[in-house]
Amino acid sequence: MLGQIQGQSHAVEAIRRAFVSGRLHHAYLFAGPDGVGKGLLATAYVSALLCPQRGAQGDACSTCSTCLRVRAGSHPDVHRVARREKDDGGLEPQIKIEAVRDLQHALSFKPFEANYRVVIIYEADRMNASTANALLKTLEEPGANTHFVLITALPNLLLPTILSRCQRIRFAPLSRAFVAAHLSRECELDPVMADLVAGLAEGSIGKGRALCKSELLAERAALLARVEGRDEDDVALPSIRRVPEALSLAESLAGRKAELPFFFQLVRTWYRDVMLSQAGLRDEQLVHRDRAALVHKRASELKSADVLERLVRVNDTERALDQAANVRLSLETLLLRLARG
Ligand SMILES: [Zn+2]
Repeated sequence: MLGQIQGQSHAVEAIRRAFVSGRLHHAYLFAGPDGVGKGLLATAYVSALLCPQRGAQGDACSTCSTCLRVRAGSHPDVHRVARREKDDGGLEPQIKIEAVRDLQHALSFKPFEANYRVVIIYEADRMNASTANALLKTLEEPGANTHFVLITALPNLLLPTILSRCQRIRFAPLSRAFVAAHLSRECELDPVMADLVAGLAEGSIGKGRALCKSELLAERAALLARVEGRDEDDVALPSIRRVPEALSLAESLAGRKAELPFFFQLVRTWYRDVMLSQAGLRDEQLVHRDRAALVHKRASELKSADVLERLVRVNDTERALDQAANVRLSLETLLLRLARG
């Protein structure tokens, strides 16, 4: 139900107004960061379109057989297009053109039972030009009572011809307090940890959920201590300034590929905090606010150009690994550079 979606009142109200005024757009683009509720609102919107007992304010009843099947992903008039799974369990890098052709075939028949049928396209930015152009034909001539929801975190990667046919609904990052409260319930975190994870998650419940499962979360203090060469009481420790230490950390991280996004997020937010401290921002704005004293100390020791350089290195390395660079070598180079100066 629309009324059950929290933290995205702007997006929810836009959809609600469309139902109340009877002016639904045939194609919506739900645009905003991953893990902030775009998929939830898509399900609530689709339920509301199909539910025979929709309320005057656009809320589906959420209990009828239609609503249950939309939620379970088994309603025959809801068509979902997404990247497909590969044999190794990972996902194809792009939505295949066959997925759009299958959709067009399915849409060539009448709806099974509802007045409307709906197409949801997940990660709509992951279509190459020919796939997007195939979809464009369907968007232009969808047939009666066919509605679309395109979901994306990267709207700028969509073709302008697709964008111009959609009404954009913007989703903002969720507030840190909102994410912390949610995660402390769902992942049973204590308040300090929930606040930290929410800061690292940058307004995304999806990202926060993944961070809760990360082995590195419990190792944050030890990891930062190795990168920084001192613990939270500012006692000097063996650090990556010793080359063998840097190489061994790179090796251990390279063996835990699934944990790498967390490592990058940790180091990035750490140096970002140092930069914010240099700029005189208050402790509440730090991600690592439980370590504010150490953040300020580093801020007084490092030149701001050095901090910026470190942030650039971290981002460059993460991007290089996205493009299948040698993981261990890239991490070694990064750590040795972070250790300099
Ligand atoms: Zn219903």
